[in-house]
Amino acid sequence: MKSPIPDYLNSVLENARPNDDGATASYIDVLAKAETNRLAVALAMVDGELYSAGDDEIEFSIQSISKAFVYAIAIEDAGLPAVLEKIGMEPSGDAFNRLSLQKGSNRPFNPMINAGAITAHSLVVAPNATVEQRTERILSTLSRLAGRQLHVDEEIFEAELKDANRNMGIGYMLKAAGIITCNPAEAVRGYIRQCSVNVTVRDLAMMASVLCNSGVHPVSGERIMPAESARQVLSVMATCGMYDGSGEWLATVGFSAKSGVSGAIMGALPGQVGIAAFSPKLDERGNSVRAVDICKQLSADMGLHLMNSSQVALSTVQTRVATILAGTKSTDPHPPNCDREVIVFSLRGAVRFAGSERLTRALERDLSGPHQEACAVVLSFRETYSLNEIARRVIHEDIRRLLADGRNVVAIDPSGILQWDIHATTKEHSPVMVETEAQARDQIGGAGCRAVTTSEGW
Ligand code: GLU
Repeated sequence: MKSPIPDYLNSVLENARPNDDGATASYIDVLAKAETNRLAVALAMVDGELYSAGDDEIEFSIQSISKAFVYAIAIEDAGLPAVLEKIGMEPSGDAFNRLSLQKGSNRPFNPMINAGAITAHSLVVAPNATVEQRTERILSTLSRLAGRQLHVDEEIFEAELKDANRNMGIGYMLKAAGIITCNPAEAVRGYIRQCSVNVTVRDLAMMASVLCNSGVHPVSGERIMPAESARQVLSVMATCGMYDGSGEWLATVGFSAKSGVSGAIMGALPGQVGIAAFSPKLDERGNSVRAVDICKQLSADMGLHLMNSSQVALSTVQTRVATILAGTKSTDPHPPNCDREVIVFSLRGAVRFAGSERLTRALERDLSGPHQEACAVVLSFRETYSLNEIARRVIHEDIRRLLADGRNVVAIDPSGILQWDIHATTKEHSPVMVETEAQARDQIGGAGCRAVTTSEGW
C-alpha cells in the first residue's frame, strides 16, 4: 500500500498555492529578493518518520525560529532561574522588534521577541563568551536537532548586519537596563548570526519533533535537552511564538508555533508531530501567508488543536469476568463447582491520570458491588502503551489497597511497564507478577483448576 500522507501533503500545498497575498520582508535585501513562489511542507513524527512535499530541499535562513532553540540553550547554560530573572514569559502583543521592557522588572516580555531573544543569546555559554563561541555552541546544537551539519548563510548575515540599527538599539537598551552584561553590539552580532543559519522544512520539522518528544531526538535517540526545557519552550511558543498574532493563532490553529521573517513556520504538537511550512510572502504581522494557510489546513484536517479534548480516557479500561471451574483433586484451592469469579481489568493505550482514574473507579465499583466475591483480581497491562508517572503512582496505590483488603492480585505485565519492584516488597505486599494470561490462570486456579469464560483468552 502507498501511504496517503505524501498525497495529502501535496494537496495541502496546492490548496495554499493560489494565495498570492503578502510581501517578502523588505528590511533584509536578500530576503526581499526571495523567490516568492517557493512552497514546502514537512511533518516529522515522534518516532522519526519524516514526510515532506514541495520545495522541501530548498534552504532559507531560520531567522526568528532560532529563538525557540536558543532559549533552550540559554536555560541549559545559565539555568532556568537565571533565565527567568532576565526574560519574562508574557505575550507582549507588540511587534517582534519593538523596543519594550516590562514595567518594574525591566525584563523583556518573552524570549520570542527580539529583546528577549538577544538577552537569551547573551546567556549562551557564559556572559563573557565571544561571538564565535556562542555561534559555535548554537550551530552545533541546531545541527544535532536537524540531524545534519547546518551552516551560517554569510550573505544573509552581512545583509542583516548592514542595517541592524533597530536591533542594535534594542541591545543598548538592554545594556542600559542592566539585563545584558556583555557588549551589546557583540550580542546583536551573535544574534544575527544565529538568525542566519540555513535550514529546510525537513530540518525544521525534525527539530520541532525533538521538542514534541520531550527533548530526545527521535532518530538518533540522543537527549538534546531536558524534558522540562522542551516543555518550557513549547509553552512560550504557544503563547508568544506568532508575533502579535499569537492569541488568535492558539485559538484557531491550536498548536505551539514559531515563525520567522524568511517565511517559515515551525509547529509542534507535543507527543505527536513536528510541523514545518515555508513560503516567503508575509502578512502585516510578519507571518508567512501561505504557511499560515497550510498550518490551518493541517490543524483542521488532522485534529491538531491542543485544546481538543482527548477521547482516549474513555476507552482505556476493559473489564471481563471469568468463572472458576474447579478441579477435582483434593489439593485444589476451589471446591467442585465453586463458581467464584475472576475479574480481569485490561488497561489500554497511553495512560495518563484520567486513564488511571478510570481504572481506579472500575476497581472500586466492581469489587464493592457486583463482583465483591471475586476470587482474584487480574490487572492486565499487555495492551498498555505507556504509563506516565502520575498514572503509575495511582495504579501502585490501587494495588497496595487491593492487597491490604486481602485480595488475590495478579498483574500481567510482559514489558515491565508497571515498574513494580518485587524485590523491594514482601510477597504479601506485592501482586503476583506474570507475563501471560495462561500464567495468570495457573496462579489463580491452582493445579488442575482453570478460570474459564466465553471471552477470548479466558
Ligand atoms: N533577523 C530578524 C530580526 O531580528 C529575525 C526576525 C524574525 O524572523 O522575526 O530582525
